[in-house]
Amino acid sequence: MLDVVWKPINLLINNLKRKFYGKTFYCPVCHLELSFHDADRDGLLVCPLCGIVIEISDVFGHPLAVVHDVEIKRHQPKMRVHPLSTHIPIGLFPFALLGTLFVFIVSIIQFYYSRDGYTLDVNFLRYIPSIKKMSDVFLFISLVFSTVTILSGYYDWYRRYERRKYRMITVKIYFSFIFLILGVIAFFLQTSGFIFNMNGFLIIKATSIVMAGLYFTIMLINFCVIATLGHIGGLLVFGK
Ligand SMILES: [Zn+2]
Repeated sequence: MLDVVWKPINLLINNLKRKFYGKTFYCPVCHLELSFHDADRDGLLVCPLCGIVIEISDVFGHPLAVVHDVEIKRHQPKMRVHPLSTHIPIGLFPFALLGTLFVFIVSIIQFYYSRDGYTLDVNFLRYIPSIKKMSDVFLFISLVFSTVTILSGYYDWYRRYERRKYRMITVKIYFSFIFLILGVIAFFLQTSGFIFNMNGFLIIKATSIVMAGLYFTIMLINFCVIATLGHIGGLLVFGK
């Protein structure tokens, strides 16, 4: 049953991965998946995880990763700002999405109830304004700290990885900017008053519902973007 959902998703992920990374191989020491494009003009690259120097040699027409050396003097940042700050956007973003999704669903249920002449008399309705406000704050903090995460990540790439071109890091840089741009658009929509009213409830109007659809689409895309960023970051720290 789950295969019906996972098979097309896996196919899409693998296609995108092939597009971004090109042909890949596994580091002979730590088994991190690397792209053949990561090698420089001489066919050499340093594994970003374990620090071995790999030469891609051509053996009877097949690329083969040969271990040559180990990078001993790797810059180790004293204050690891990037791995620390990254948990704030990744931790808070899902709560911003869950909060507004909850408000959306409750507003729709309340609308249908009141349309039939009933009043939805449940206690948690009075918490809706707070839940909406907390979602605004979570998204705001998530965006602010994502800029700290991007800048510190760029610094780490500059110093720790000596600006070497890795497809994994290129994807991370592009995805970070996508997250920030889509996040700002989502924040504008969430707080604009076009979708949610002053009390935090969804405005039941055709234009607001359409805009809510756009808002949730952006938030879901961004959720996938930040999950990918976290996943690649985890691979660079812990490996497979
Ligand atoms: Zn390695």
